[in-house]
Amino acid sequence: MLENKVAIITGGTRGIGLEIVKVFKENHAKVILFGSKKETVEKAIEDLKKEKMEVTGYYPNLNNYEEVEKVIKEIQEKYGTIDILVNNAGISANKKIEETTSEDFTKIMEINVNAIFNMTKAVVPYMKEQKKGVILNTSSMVSIYGQPAGVGYPASKYAVNGITKSLARELASAGIRVNAVAPGVTNTEMIAKLPKEQIEPIIKTIPLGRIGEPRDIANAFLFLASDMASYITGVILSVDGAARS
Ligand code: NAD
Repeated sequence: MLENKVAIITGGTRGIGLEIVKVFKENHAKVILFGSKKETVEKAIEDLKKEKMEVTGYYPNLNNYEEVEKVIKEIQEKYGTIDILVNNAGISANKKIEETTSEDFTKIMEINVNAIFNMTKAVVPYMKEQKKGVILNTSSMVSIYGQPAGVGYPASKYAVNGITKSLARELASAGIRVNAVAPGVTNTEMIAKLPKEQIEPIIKTIPLGRIGEPRDIANAFLFLASDMASYITGVILSVDGAARS
């Protein structure tokens, strides 16, 4: 489905991002994964190699626009094109507002929102030049319903939806589609970190009766990245087993 497409995936070292890397590779894309640290990027590349998947990787500071711009230029020169950008890196929060510092709030906005701005701003000129491209963002179920604690997280994901819908309109005439996937509770380290008391009541309310697996989410990214979604832009696609809380 992605024969010879060049795809960059942020937060590609584990969890949902790593699964997107795998499903894109299985569908014959050329994949470049981004992570936060040299060691985790190298480990992910090494592990993928054992599964016979060749990928390259970078670890720019996503909050430093100059650093991001430099790496994107290098990738464009090396591969000759950037067809797909997946802005997936993210962190979550679950503290009550009294315990949340303004630094906590700023940090979550920096990685979940500002980083998407920086990556997208750096990639768009190349996509415009080739008159095509796909930008996909990882939103969340909390961008529709909010959540009972950790206000910075839903705030950041509402912003992701705003970026997605606005850029879909701005970039449509340039042949660039912009969509987001909004996962429900998904089986990754992010969820493993949360207290049981917060997760179990949520699972009980999921009509499909289970939390999502990374592959459930990655498949939605594959569809939206592919030409099968050629008339879809500005959509926030819920992949959450119909969870509603
Ligand atoms: P994870 O913690 O397993 O992975 C997060 C990824 O983001 C890692 O690869 C990490 O390297 C990267 N990252 C974190 N901070 C970074 C930074 N400062 N700079 C660069 N990269 C950084 O989490 P996950 O569950 O795979 O989450 C991936 C995305 O899915 C996030 O945007 C998250 O908000 C979203 N999401 C997750 C769930 C869930 O239940 N797991 C639900 C909805 C949305």
